[in-house]
Amino acid sequence: MKDNKMPRVHQKLNSDALFFQLKDQDQKQQEKAVKREDFRCDCQGRYCDGFPAGINPTLVDKIDELEKILKKKVQIISGVRCEKRNAEADGSNHSFHLLGRAADIRCEPMSVDELAAVAEAVGLLVIRDYRDDVVHCQWND
Ligand SMILES: [Zn+2]
Ligand SMILES: [Zn+2]
Repeated sequence: MKDNKMPRVHQKLNSDALFFQLKDQDQKQQEKAVKREDFRCDCQGRYCDGFPAGINPTLVDKIDELEKILKKKVQIISGVRCEKRNAEADGSNHSFHLLGRAADIRCEPMSVDELAAVAEAVGLLVIRDYRDDVVHCQWND
């Protein structure tokens, strides 16, 4: 087969057109973005100040809602990412982590499937990432 490259995990939810549309939209509404420590870029200050982009406020609200349902905190394994960190993490070029619109979460001892089901119930787009044992949650609106 000519085109047998497996799409990277994040590309399933994303199109480049949507990425750039949302990037543009977010730049106009940057004052609404939030900085929450647990969403900080995990390059640990090597490449950025932790917030190369603000976090989408709806994404934060949805994760709060998820925690209320679960009655416990989820672990944010990866929140916003700078481009270098994203490349290291093998994200797609236009990963929504770059926009502050995605977070990879875990909530032990829940399985990926169990956590993903609740994330979907609060309206998040999810990718079940069994390799890294996280649920990628994304907000596209
Ligand atoms: Zn960074
Ligand atoms: Zn992710």
